[in-house]
Amino acid sequence: MAMVTAVLFAVWYFNRQIPGLRLWTLSYLFGLLFSISFLQWTRLPPALSVVLTQCAVSLTGYLCLMGCHAYMGRPPPRHGRAAVFIAVLVGMALYFTLVQPHPGMRFLAASLGPGVFYGLSAATLAHGGMQAYPARYLTAIVMGAHGAFVLLRTLLFKLQMSLVQDADMVPALSQFVILEAIMALVLIAFGILMLANEFTHSALRRLAEMDPLTSVFNRRAFLTLLDKAISQARRRRAELPVLVIDLDHFKKINDTWGHQCGDEVLRHFVGLAASCLRREDLMGRLGGEEFAIALPLATREGARAVAERLCSLVGQHPAMTEHGPIALTVSVGVTLCAAGETPEGVLHRADAAMYQAKQRGRNRVEEWQPEPVPGG
Ligand code: GH3
Ligand code: MG
Ligand code: MG
Repeated sequence: MAMVTAVLFAVWYFNRQIPGLRLWTLSYLFGLLFSISFLQWTRLPPALSVVLTQCAVSLTGYLCLMGCHAYMGRPPPRHGRAAVFIAVLVGMALYFTLVQPHPGMRFLAASLGPGVFYGLSAATLAHGGMQAYPARYLTAIVMGAHGAFVLLRTLLFKLQMSLVQDADMVPALSQFVILEAIMALVLIAFGILMLANEFTHSALRRLAEMDPLTSVFNRRAFLTLLDKAISQARRRRAELPVLVIDLDHFKKINDTWGHQCGDEVLRHFVGLAASCLRREDLMGRLGGEEFAIALPLATREGARAVAERLCSLVGQHPAMTEHGPIALTVSVGVTLCAAGETPEGVLHRADAAMYQAKQRGRNRVEEWQPEPVPGG
């Protein structure tokens, strides 16, 4: 426990930005405290050793759960409830040690806390999809299995007691329980290190792929994702509509109200656009005040409808800034991807349609039309 705690402490010390890591390290610190009080069991007064081990083992589980909440960006679990639960367990352990000694019930009291908390930790972590977040699921499996074993081992203990009258078998079972705990706690520590790695990895990916101002994909990431979407659409023999959107007279907003206000208007626009989109849709900032949207599940008519809706939504909802409401309109170009086309080619056509919308008076949607062939 001391070695694992030291490793986690070192990782936390150099990576303090990783949420949950501090709480997980504290969890292991309480595990260490539990191990010490467990080894000193016979030397301490019984009441003190019961309170110490019971609190330490429950807090090990509860801090693990708190770490999982922090890692997943969820509000912390309810401390009040946990405190009552732990207090009941301590009371139970004291009762079955001092008032009516019963090793089985004392064992149950020591198992309920970690069993419940590790189970809840597993349920907290297992979100987001195995493909995208394998470390979360692997760690959840280990935590969940440990929680389940801790709860079930009481039954095992009971079974053993009824099967063998031989008191020598009890230490054998205790050894098995301790062996499981050692393996589980080392594996959970590995899981925590994988989670730390996963967090850093996704933070770096976010930095590389997202536009920091508006939190949509940047141009490079959008082009990569559009390329993938084009191949998928070709395989499904489906249409892939692409929209290019440019804010009208945006320079005037910057010149009148300042760059910061312009930034706020850009974020406001992205918020409105997001409300028109589905989960599968892709949105990227191509640069400045120009954005693109790919609609993998839409038809040509559907895409046109989305574009019209976005156009009128933006017109109806001025950005609320510290300078008051700022009215805004957009020009939208719509086109469909042709089979085997490059993302740049598609965007070029959607851009041409968008410029047509600008020429025809802005605040409108235009679909790309092929140039009429002279004499054709
Ligand atoms: P049009 O209707 O023809 O599109 O006119 P416009 O003024 O929107 O277009 P123009 O290309 O003349 O101006 C775009 C402006 O967008 C100029 C640039 O300063 C501003 N801009 C580009 N990136 C940002 C940004 O990140 N934040 C802010 N606030 N402004 C930006
Ligand atoms: Mg513009
Ligand atoms: Mg522009």
